[in-house]
Amino acid sequence: MLDKYSREINYLRVSITDRCNLHCVYCRPKEGISLQGHEDILRYEEILRVVSLAVRMGLIKVRVTGGEPLVRRRCVEFLAALKKIDGLKDISLTTNGILLEEFAGQMFDAGVRRINVSLDSLDKDKYFRITNGGNLDAVLRGIIHAQEVGFSPIKINTVLIKGFNDNEALEFARLAAEMPFQVRFIELMPMGKTNLRDGEEYMPATELIEKISQTFALEPLKGKKNKSDGPARIYKIKNGQGEIGFINPVSDHFCSTCNRLRLTSDGKLRACLLNEAEVDLKAALRENCSDAELEKLIWDAVLLKPRKHDVVCTDNTMKKCTRIMSEIGG
Ligand code: SAM
Repeated sequence: MLDKYSREINYLRVSITDRCNLHCVYCRPKEGISLQGHEDILRYEEILRVVSLAVRMGLIKVRVTGGEPLVRRRCVEFLAALKKIDGLKDISLTTNGILLEEFAGQMFDAGVRRINVSLDSLDKDKYFRITNGGNLDAVLRGIIHAQEVGFSPIKINTVLIKGFNDNEALEFARLAAEMPFQVRFIELMPMGKTNLRDGEEYMPATELIEKISQTFALEPLKGKKNKSDGPARIYKIKNGQGEIGFINPVSDHFCSTCNRLRLTSDGKLRACLLNEAEVDLKAALRENCSDAELEKLIWDAVLLKPRKHDVVCTDNTMKKCTRIMSEIGG
């Protein structure tokens, strides 16, 4: 599927629920958000119909996310059903890791091989605070278990927030040096409602790379043929086990190589994470639309993709996205 700017769109991120067992301060505030009801969210069969059709149109890769995907009942069965779709080459999942120890084995048996685990602090108390109640030990046990059952690669997604956890950058780099994980630092994006406090804010990746390079020798992985790295700039740590990646959607957007659409938990096909344009698939699905009608709607979303997101305004302030990340699927 080629969009208006000749980008090939072949990747879909699917938020299967807006619910989550954590409330990370920058992602999903504890108060003031309304949860979607059972009827509001897409049924698994509806998602499978959309994916199967999109695969016939050129989709090759799906990432399951949320909210927290592992809190939705029958998630593993859903992953197994995705795995059976002919032509879908890559299935991955993003999780906060709280339930990973319980589900890693079943997910592996269902055919998933790649996971990203979000982890923003290696300090128990800080982790508890940033997630509003999360248990760091459970996540670490989950990651180790996932490694034991055979997941590879395991990527750790870390959002560093100035004034909160930016002092842990070297600890995370050390984790990548000592374990065969890819630690990916993701810039904080300006999303809807958050519980961030004054002084806790976006930190540009350039500062981070400089800080880490003073302690660890980073070797850029140029020309590495690893399609799963997407927009991350990846570095090998000299004499280390793992890798470090930087994903800079704000300071150095990668829109020219964007290949993705997002299916929100309430059934909207969203053309760009940081742009409000969406196409309502749920309404059509519930009215028993034909495949031809559904295909047309998928094309509508592809053609809605903007050349680039526009969160950074001309005066360098940031425009906020109105939806919260857990509905869109980060
Ligand atoms: N619950 C799962 C998890 O925690 O990985 C999947 C959903 S979560 C929304 C997916 C990713 O989005 C997480 O890595 C999270 O850190 C990231 N995220 C959420 N809000 C963000 C923001 N404002 N800026 C950057 N990343 C964000």
